[in-house]
Amino acid sequence: MNRDDTPTGTAPGERLVDAGPGGEAEDQAIEAALRPKDLAEFIGQERVREQLDLVLKAARQRGGTADHVLLSGAPGLGKTTLSMIIATEMGAPIRITSGPAIQHAGDLAAILSSLAEGEVLFLDEIHRMSRPAEEMLYMAMEDFRVDVVVGKGPGATAIPLELPPFTLVGATTRAGLLPPPLRDRFGFTGHMDFYSPAELERVIHRSAALLDVAVDPEGAAEIAGRSRGTPRIANRLLRRVRDYAQVKADGVITREIAGRALRVYDVDARGLDRLDRAVLTALLKLFGGGPVGLGTLAVAVGEERETVEEVAEPFLVREGLLARTPRGRVGTPAAWAHLGLVPPGQGGAAGQGDLFEG
Ligand code: ADP
Repeated sequence: MNRDDTPTGTAPGERLVDAGPGGEAEDQAIEAALRPKDLAEFIGQERVREQLDLVLKAARQRGGTADHVLLSGAPGLGKTTLSMIIATEMGAPIRITSGPAIQHAGDLAAILSSLAEGEVLFLDEIHRMSRPAEEMLYMAMEDFRVDVVVGKGPGATAIPLELPPFTLVGATTRAGLLPPPLRDRFGFTGHMDFYSPAELERVIHRSAALLDVAVDPEGAAEIAGRSRGTPRIANRLLRRVRDYAQVKADGVITREIAGRALRVYDVDARGLDRLDRAVLTALLKLFGGGPVGLGTLAVAVGEERETVEEVAEPFLVREGLLARTPRGRVGTPAAWAHLGLVPPGQGGAAGQGDLFEG
């Protein structure tokens, strides 16, 4: 554990290991350049890929538009990429928007009524759309029709508006949050899982080739192991390691260079960063491994409750390092082992291992 982890408050976008899209224009440009362009290039997610391939082939054979598709999965797993691939495979244009951008039913009506025939409408974070917009979407998805309400109060009238057939691709991080009537209107639902280390290695080799970066197999494996099952993070770490390799070495990414670079960026052998380790360290060192309440833990690390709960904990829980119990947060035996600490009452000296070595 670093000694300099003074609480500073962490904004999610600041983290190298955050799975959300980067805000910088450069981030977005590189991300776009690294997106696989068709299903054959898309790595992993075999089931979703195979099923989607059938859906799209069948639609093409019928000469119609593809069924509406719902993609669920954590950020950075390739939902936007797949929606673009759907458009490409159907030879259709694509329009991209998101639930939070659609505050009023009128916003949605404006988008829907300007779609071209067969166009793919990608609606990210579909679970965050407003209720009236959601209800308008039901009818649009089913009948390719919306009722636009003109006027207010008793004099308001609904004017029916025919829409061209289109394919809605909805993306959500939590399919369970979608109201059943919305979920039921999708012809196909694909659940995206976290990627295996081997799949991430393939992502890294592919991206390295596109970025013209030399990476050997062990270097790719080292980055993959720290990428939290997420291609977006793998690509981001690759770029930072490339910088290091270029400035501090001969440009080739080996296991050693990747390890040294990611130590500089504070991403340890399991992909935990400073914030994750601060939470775990407080839990183990200050509270003996818990159980401790979320609020207390947050104060101890100098972060907002929400940051600890929504930014740090999901990955720690997924990795089996932290458990959320009715009595509070608990550090698991794997957490003690990862930080090189010995649980109270188990004797022995706390051997401080090197977290940055695999
Ligand atoms: P999401 O919409 O789920 O947040 P994106 O589709 O924007 O994720 O993907 C994030 C980045 O990860 C993209 O730059 C893309 O290049 C890369 N990526 C995602 N999935 C894959 C994949 N299966 N193969 C290769 N690269 C991928």
